[in-house]
Amino acid sequence: MSRKFSCSPKAIKELIHANLLPILTVSGVTGGAVLGLILRYSREEHWTKREVMYVGYIGELFLRALKALIIPLIVSSLVSAIGSLDLSLSKKIGLRAIAYYMTTTVLAVILGIILVVSIHPGKGSDEGIKKAGEARDVYTPDLLMDLLRNLFPPNLIQACFETHKTIIIQPKLKDLENDTRFLSYNLTEDELPPKAEWELGTEHTRALNIMGLVSFATLLGLALSTLGAKGKPLLDFFHSLSDASMVITSWLIWISPVGILFLVASMIIEMEDFSVMLGQLGLYFGTVILGIFIHGFLILPAIYTIFTRKLPFRFLANMSQAYITAFATASSSGTMPVTFQCLEEKNKIDPRVTRFVIPIGATINMDGTALYEAVAAIFIAQVRGIALTIGQVVAISITATAAAIGAAGIPQAGLVTMVMVLDVVGLPAEDMTLIIAVDWLLDRFRTMINVLGDSIGAGLVYELSKKELEQMSINANGDVERPSNEIAMDAVESSKM
Ligand code: ASP
Repeated sequence: MSRKFSCSPKAIKELIHANLLPILTVSGVTGGAVLGLILRYSREEHWTKREVMYVGYIGELFLRALKALIIPLIVSSLVSAIGSLDLSLSKKIGLRAIAYYMTTTVLAVILGIILVVSIHPGKGSDEGIKKAGEARDVYTPDLLMDLLRNLFPPNLIQACFETHKTIIIQPKLKDLENDTRFLSYNLTEDELPPKAEWELGTEHTRALNIMGLVSFATLLGLALSTLGAKGKPLLDFFHSLSDASMVITSWLIWISPVGILFLVASMIIEMEDFSVMLGQLGLYFGTVILGIFIHGFLILPAIYTIFTRKLPFRFLANMSQAYITAFATASSSGTMPVTFQCLEEKNKIDPRVTRFVIPIGATINMDGTALYEAVAAIFIAQVRGIALTIGQVVAISITATAAAIGAAGIPQAGLVTMVMVLDVVGLPAEDMTLIIAVDWLLDRFRTMINVLGDSIGAGLVYELSKKELEQMSINANGDVERPSNEIAMDAVESSKM
């Protein structure tokens, strides 16, 4: 099919009109970079945190508005998507999504390991690498148990703003003096018993427990699907909430170029001098970037093409608004409203799939983070001069996968769960401070790939599930005309007993 291109003012106007949002978004990024550079070099002295906060204020407002949509979107979209699917069909779609998440995460980890082992960015001494900060001192089993605890929140209201976290409690000297276990120690304020002997305690951090909300919404969706006609009023409520959240998203998207401009400007003013990138840290940075770009722009599109027999270029280009938002916000959960919008409006992916696959993907499917966890742990081992056995490398791959699943879709969450990966190689948690100087920037790139991975997952699952979706008698608005489904009717009957 041939297409005629014309350069008439009318044609140019139409072109701009059709692509107004991407043009504004790219202008926001470039404008932000220029503004940031001008402000950064407009004076000699360092910008204080407070001044950076003032510059980024408008961006912060945009981010807050995006975050406000996370709870209504995750809960309503999952409940309505799972609740409107036949159980047997949702099982099929769900299994496809899980298979995609697991395969791509493992592929990302393997790629990361191949790259870090062959590039070997950590050779030489660790001179020049900055150390800073303190880290949590709990062990892998504690972190894994926290993950499961968060999957079962005891209180849903609390899950909207608090996450469970195990901590170790520093003992008080006066308690220890009376404790017979410590008689052999010469205890002073400065010389307490080793940390391994400190008690474990519970802390609730001020962070949304997304895992808990996802698991509850999934269960509620399954329950409503089982209830059939009886569950319809509640299901309709969630359909309506999900649609309303999407309408708010479409409004927000139009102010995103302004928000992104100020987020990028403040990021540029705040960033460390590029001199930290020289040497080992720069090589480590390059290794992670190379890995996430190979994974995101070669491997994932190749998987998409192989399974769908479609070229991925248009699909990927249509998602650009989501990548830019992911880069600017460093949060895949925060980007979720935009991801939905790009998938449904531009790529025309069925909402029954996106609203099922994206909230779960944004929470557990993080290819960029998984790759980074593996590279970072092996890089630190290299810097410390530790030769890893094959067994240890395998252990790193498994824990890096778990660490990526456990990381929340918020800025630098991967750095926190990396304690787990370091632990399997016997490295102290404090060692993650070796990479802290560049983590804020890597975080933005890995978030982009996390979002890209979720989007390709939704596209792939949609293409593979077209037949099942067609079978279902759900109209485009998500209204359910369903009780012909036998499973649901059986369940209604049995729920009467
Ligand atoms: N910021 C990442 C995300 O939101 C998580 C991480 O790797 O730290 O996807």
